[in-house]
Amino acid sequence: MKTLAAVVRSPGGPFLFEEHELEDPRADEVLVRIHATGICHTDIAVRDQHLPLPLPVILGHEGAGVVVKVGSEVQQIAPGDHVVLTADSCGHCPMCHSGHEPYCDQLRPLNITGLRGDGTSRIIDEAGLRGSFFGQSSFATYALATVRNTVKVPADIDMSILGQLGCGIQTGAGAVLKRLMPDPGSSILICGAGPVGIAAAMAARIAGCGTIAVMEKHPARLLAAGKFGATHVVDAQQGEAAFDELSALAPNGFDAVIDTTGVQALITRLVPLVAPLKTLLLLAPGATVTLPLSPMMAGGRTVSSHSCGHISSSVFIPELIELYRQGTFPIDQLVTTFPFSAIEEACRAAELGEVIKPVLVMDC
Ligand SMILES: [Zn+2]
Ligand SMILES: [Zn+2]
Repeated sequence: MKTLAAVVRSPGGPFLFEEHELEDPRADEVLVRIHATGICHTDIAVRDQHLPLPLPVILGHEGAGVVVKVGSEVQQIAPGDHVVLTADSCGHCPMCHSGHEPYCDQLRPLNITGLRGDGTSRIIDEAGLRGSFFGQSSFATYALATVRNTVKVPADIDMSILGQLGCGIQTGAGAVLKRLMPDPGSSILICGAGPVGIAAAMAARIAGCGTIAVMEKHPARLLAAGKFGATHVVDAQQGEAAFDELSALAPNGFDAVIDTTGVQALITRLVPLVAPLKTLLLLAPGATVTLPLSPMMAGGRTVSSHSCGHISSSVFIPELIELYRQGTFPIDQLVTTFPFSAIEEACRAAELGEVIKPVLVMDC
């Protein structure tokens, strides 16, 4: 099967549109015609080689599309099914068996190398071109995934809405609904109002949190946070005054604090804002952070982290779609669509904070 893919061959790009030949699906694989795929920070981090992965590679890890062909052992998914692609997993390690595939033993080789677990690429016509990023490489018109990272979804949901569910939205919502599980009326602080932070704020509203504070530096994203769940928005550009404002909102500390920024100077300041015996959840992949231990110990505070939706995407993605249908998780309003050919413009808009969630649409 021929696929038109956006290939990164040098650090920082550009994305080069090239036609390549995909293998036929293996026994456990699924060939998907991609209709939409979101751009996530991780795609940009690999393009720029902040997250090193050998080039050339076809990125994209939030594909949504229609199944074209399935391998001989695939039973639960059939041609014509609408699907969302997410992170791949091995299916047989202890974490996979316990329903926590985001923590699969093989998470790294199956997702961050751009290759299958056996080291092959899924691209036939160019040795060395990595075509299995997050088990999909969905910056392309067709992608080969596995039965484990392909989630069947209702056929009546717009593909541009589905094309953001594979990674960041699950991560933000899962942090609240599956990992922290806050009590109704409790307080939460979310730092960063990109797609992960906004999804966390929406989820905090669903969970019934009483105080949902969001701190962010981009004015447009602050406005969005207020629209989508925050009870209080705090402008990070204020410097010290921002922390005073947060302390006033929760004099005894917040019941949960989520950081999506990975910024060391900010995270250090967040520690005293966590209430005693409560949790600071760090969600910025690739960040290296040092924490002051004394205030952590003095308050018995916990530092935690979390990946994707925390539970099986095959369970969580349909739950999120149901919340969207009920009107409590309005993710359609987060999306700005770009034609596939405008991938550079879409990445730029994401980097500048001009849009919350850029989604590439393949067939417009
Ligand atoms: Zn596993
Ligand atoms: Zn991602």
